[in-house]
Amino acid sequence: MEKKKVLSEEHKRNISIAGIGRIVSKETRQKLRDINLGKTLSDETRRKISQNHRRSQTEETRRKISQNHRRSQTEETRRKISIGSIGKKLSTITKEKLRIAHLGKKHTKEQIENRRIMMIGKRCGEKCNFWKGGITYLNRAIRNQFKYKQWVATCMARDNWTCGTCHTRGGILHVHHIEGFAELLKLYNIRTVEDALKCAPLWDLKNGITLCKECHKLTETYLKNNKVNNKPLLIYQTLVCERREKEK
Ligand SMILES: [Zn+2]
Repeated sequence: MEKKKVLSEEHKRNISIAGIGRIVSKETRQKLRDINLGKTLSDETRRKISQNHRRSQTEETRRKISQNHRRSQTEETRRKISIGSIGKKLSTITKEKLRIAHLGKKHTKEQIENRRIMMIGKRCGEKCNFWKGGITYLNRAIRNQFKYKQWVATCMARDNWTCGTCHTRGGILHVHHIEGFAELLKLYNIRTVEDALKCAPLWDLKNGITLCKECHKLTETYLKNNKVNNKPLLIYQTLVCERREKEK
């Protein structure tokens, strides 16, 4: 039986140094691959490798590795990785590990700035998830028309500047669309201001009702598309309801 050679620490180090920078041929790589194929490392071994690895790497080294990694990935590769990870769910253990790893870490000013620059223009206009096909601009443009202002004034005069719900006269008054304005635009497929001016149902006085600002806020369609305002609106609505019940 052949006796196993025991290498001294120095000898091992020398071998290791000699191997630095040496390019392994494809053939050798294939051989190494074949030898190790199908071998499973025990948890103990894996832990040891990981620890050794971790211990030998300084923060600097890790940063460099990460940068190199990033640099060597083409856009294509990144896209593929990104697509591949879509819908993958992380296990509770992984999540917990990530949580612990990120604990107490704060983004540097540089990172925040980089993210800000990266996000510029990424979520504006059509790319935004709130995008409804440019109706906001059309909506605003129609509301700026003289005909619209006339419609509002006529509705208010007809209702004697009195809120249809709480019957308060004067104050800040709105004219509420019974059939939602945005819905009407969609229903009659209105794409331009000219279309809107020609569309008779849009200017139906029966579709308008004078409401005070507070009562208008209680309507379903008030700032419906403005999701940012929904939370304060809900708080406001409950406050108004509570106040009303006290007054009764
Ligand atoms: Zn009112």
